[in-house]
Amino acid sequence: MRADLRILGLFVGVYCGGRHRDLAREPHRSPAVDADVYGRRVPVLCQDCSQHLEYGEARRVFCTLDPKPFCAHCPVHCFKDSERQWNRTMMRYSGRRSLTRGFAREGARHFAGSVGIRVRALGRRLDTALRRA
Ligand code: SF4
Ligand SMILES: [Zn+2]
Repeated sequence: MRADLRILGLFVGVYCGGRHRDLAREPHRSPAVDADVYGRRVPVLCQDCSQHLEYGEARRVFCTLDPKPFCAHCPVHCFKDSERQWNRTMMRYSGRRSLTRGFAREGARHFAGSVGIRVRALGRRLDTALRRA
């Protein structure tokens, strides 16, 4: 859970740092920050990104899935549509950039997880198709 939140925070930080350079930005404040989830790497965000991050943190805290998949690949998807869309845009921007912004380990872990999920999904589809054949 903490690792998942940390990756989310880092990615939102990369997105905000790139997209909202001209806006007033300050260290994110939330219950997750108070719980020391981000350690010394508290994301510096504009107000809007900070609210999106806090929404994502809250969803993850109340997630009932165990093991929890990446939210992007979740079959339930508990986010409201506007937040889901925002996260998609944010991840599309930050995913690859995180690899070159000092977060290579976190970015690589996320990509490895995403690829693993896609490979398993493809395997299941192939399996189903072969059974029907
Ligand atoms: S989207 Fe899925 S994995 Fe993410 S918090 Fe909601 S239920 Fe849990
Ligand atoms: Zn921002």
